[in-house]
Amino acid sequence: MHPLTLLIKPAAGLCNLNCRYCFYRPVSADRENLIMTYETVDLLIRKLAAFRPTSLTVMFQGGEPTLAGLEFYRYFVAAFRNNLRVPVSFAMQTNGLLLDDAFAAFFRENRFLLGVSLDGTGETNDRNRVDSDGNGTHDRVMQAVALLRRHRVEFNILSVVDNDSVKALGETFRFFKENGLSYIQFIPCLGTDDHAALTVENYALFLKNTFDLWYSYYIREDYVSVRHIDNYMGIFLGSPPENCAMCGVCGSYFTVEANGDLYPCDFYCDDAHRIGSLSDENPFVINEKHRAFIEESKVIHSHCQGCRYHDICRGGCKADRIDGFAENRYCAAYKEFFAYAAPRMSAIARRIKDA
Ligand code: SF4
Ligand code: SF4
Repeated sequence: MHPLTLLIKPAAGLCNLNCRYCFYRPVSADRENLIMTYETVDLLIRKLAAFRPTSLTVMFQGGEPTLAGLEFYRYFVAAFRNNLRVPVSFAMQTNGLLLDDAFAAFFRENRFLLGVSLDGTGETNDRNRVDSDGNGTHDRVMQAVALLRRHRVEFNILSVVDNDSVKALGETFRFFKENGLSYIQFIPCLGTDDHAALTVENYALFLKNTFDLWYSYYIREDYVSVRHIDNYMGIFLGSPPENCAMCGVCGSYFTVEANGDLYPCDFYCDDAHRIGSLSDENPFVINEKHRAFIEESKVIHSHCQGCRYHDICRGGCKADRIDGFAENRYCAAYKEFFAYAAPRMSAIARRIKDA
């Protein structure tokens, strides 16, 4: 028995927005078939009860998970609490547009941690984050932020960075700070098959600029939590990163699709990487295919062997390594960033340790 992390997609890739950089494109308009059924929820709970994890982290993600409806989440949480005596943390990533008082009260009552997608100022956000009519969403997301505050729901901000918004990071950071949004997870668009994917030069710019902005507040004793920098600082302080992409090895978590199919990672929800289904006898025991996926990420490429930054970088996320195990396509950006920021991170870590 051990802790278990599930990333559940109750509405599959279905979404009420039409963000220009999105890599999910639902192929079917048949909404009914894309929402997780109560039978699938019951099956999931039965399999969890049999597996008996010591604790559970459940992250709902999409597409847009609120499209499953509040009743779905009420059913899920009630079924969970009636059948499992396991410490649980619930989280959800949402664009915020469907949130209302009832949703917010439910999140508060069940201590959900929300990640709300907002790319920055109105101009930056609405360049990409548009609805199906092409209208910007910034004002509606800010209303959702106000709603969550009124209900005292814990949340952080998820901010996607592409080749355009990378040049406006200073403005973005200031906007967040001015609006009291001090818990930020930047999500750089990475990859090869999308025009929004950051170039190596822009990824280096992203890493250096976010660090400089974080640092400028840090030295004024005005701490801003920026997830990837918190993880790097943790490494300098001797703690394991909580972000699997920075661990040097894929996490052993399960992505659960709306139809009950299981995948090793949200970046790998395709037929070739399907590792099983909730209808399997022991779906949460790591099987051979899942183990092979994880083992592949442990291979240290010859470029990384002997690299002076390997202890911090660990080769990066498997999804950014060419063919999953060869060199990381953003290696040059990492090297530039570590040369630039590692001395300051190391000095801060030394001061914290000595304090
Ligand atoms: S591919 Fe990247 S994000 Fe997915 S499990 Fe591996 S390290 Fe984590
Ligand atoms: S900086 Fe490049 S060579 Fe060094 S560990 Fe990272 S990916 Fe490997």
